[in-house]
Amino acid sequence: MKIYILGAGSIGSLFGALLTRIGEDVTLIGRKEHVDAINNRGLRVVGAEEFTVYSRAVTEVPPEPPDLIILATKSYSTAHALKCARESIGKNTWILSIQNGLGNEEEALKYTKNVLGGITTNGAALEKWGVVRWTGKGVTIIGNYPKGRGEFAENVVALLKKAGLEAEISDNIIGWKWAKAIVNSAINPIGTIMEVKNGIILGNDYLLTLAMEVVKEGCQVATQLGIEFDTHPMELLLETLKRTRENYNSMLQDVRRGKTTEIDFINGKIIEYGEKMGLKTPLNFALWSLVKAKESQTK
Ligand code: NAP
Repeated sequence: MKIYILGAGSIGSLFGALLTRIGEDVTLIGRKEHVDAINNRGLRVVGAEEFTVYSRAVTEVPPEPPDLIILATKSYSTAHALKCARESIGKNTWILSIQNGLGNEEEALKYTKNVLGGITTNGAALEKWGVVRWTGKGVTIIGNYPKGRGEFAENVVALLKKAGLEAEISDNIIGWKWAKAIVNSAINPIGTIMEVKNGIILGNDYLLTLAMEVVKEGCQVATQLGIEFDTHPMELLLETLKRTRENYNSMLQDVRRGKTTEIDFINGKIIEYGEKMGLKTPLNFALWSLVKAKESQTK
């Protein structure tokens, strides 16, 4: 399959490396330093598995339409990245988002109806240009966006499995996207404001109660929109906090590096959808405001 990884940073490089390893026709589209390193020394994966592949890497989206574009930028870069890719989105091209947050698939739907949603609990971090650390294995769930499944989605799942990833198909990917966003809307800002590892939220009654109330608020918005959950976000919250107890969440890491966070596409989107449905979301608003304040102080 001809695959473009649009936004080859941490998670995109990991997926790109795994798909290159099984012989797929992968092109990584990323920033110059990373692209140069890959072209000079190959793309090295370390951590959960260790190997080097020699993927094609470029800074501009090639004009030929691929079969699949895996969207792996941060959510705030999606609109611009898709604009850069618009000439390469053919009538048979599918776009799969493996990003966190809400609204990425809606951006992709502006260019094609062939959109797959995805979530992944794999962890990846760019250690240095050309080297990605697979920080933890997890599961990837994909499906036709917003709902349903089809032959192409089944093929992508089969390909991800062949590549060595645990992968599943879902008829309700919008439910999974919302469930993950709601869990992130609690863990990420609380961990960022308190500057703590996820396990501290689990072990502190005040923080855990707050996290659970934030999840309830997000669920009210989702329910009003008609979103159904395969696994309830409250269950997912506790499971995620246990599984990632030793981790600092990505939002805190972004703030510490002086980078933009995805808060506008997590809590920000929950607030926005709440407003559309006439629902107030004061907890999400408070967390959003505090993270925006913190972000503006470190930039
Ligand atoms: P990341 O390391 O910042 O990677 C994104 C890369 O895309 C960056 O190098 C970025 O460059 C680049 N980029 C942005 N726009 C581009 C464009 N138009 N052309 C070429 N390159 C472009 O982020 P990440 O951690 O992989 O996360 C990506 C998404 O996956 C997020 O939504 C995240 O929440 C989600 N996710 C991540 C993980 C993980 O473990 N990392 C796990 C699950 C889900 P600049 O930084 O210069 O913009």
